[in-house]
Amino acid sequence: MGATSGQGRQAGGTPRAALADLLAGNRRFVSGQPVHGHDVTAAAAASGDQQPYAVVLGCIDSRVPLEAIFDQTFGAICVIRTGGHVLDRAVCGSIEYVVGQLGVPLVMVLGHERCGAVEATVAALRTGQRPGGSLAHLVDEIAPAVTEAGIDDPAVLPLAIRRHVRRTVRTLRADALLAGPVDAGRVAVVGGLYELATGEVALLDPN
Ligand SMILES: [Zn+2]
Repeated sequence: MGATSGQGRQAGGTPRAALADLLAGNRRFVSGQPVHGHDVTAAAAASGDQQPYAVVLGCIDSRVPLEAIFDQTFGAICVIRTGGHVLDRAVCGSIEYVVGQLGVPLVMVLGHERCGAVEATVAALRTGQRPGGSLAHLVDEIAPAVTEAGIDDPAVLPLAIRRHVRRTVRTLRADALLAGPVDAGRVAVVGGLYELATGEVALLDPN
């Protein structure tokens, strides 16, 4: 991770501008007109100090490659991926670094349809069989969203996916090192949902 002054960012100086840039990239992707290729010239062009303008926290799902779906080149966004975009200290510390040290004004939490981590949580709650190992951490973190959605609701999966995004956004907004910048309006934490078949990202929360 390279140091940066946090000054001179051409786009994305504000949360609003950063969000507009990110969503514009998704529209390029969806329309089949991406402008950023992932070849070695992009690596070389970004090999100086980094000045990313957003951090996206998404799922590990192989169908949701974040740089691709937002048509972002090297050096533009920081990406964190965990199963079901579940938070832990490493994830929160990474976001705190990007916001606090790199001056990034936008954090997006991106859920997606048919998320296997949320499916696994629904199954665990329905059967009462909590998985072992560290997988239990994922299930424990997603379980409140499933319970809120209603374990017996036929639409529990899509409902829980949305609730889990919103819960993750709220948790990050209240993070010890993020709450101040968020309250001051220097940083925004927003939630989005990715549709597998169309490639579209929809904002879940206008805030
Ligand atoms: Zn997923």
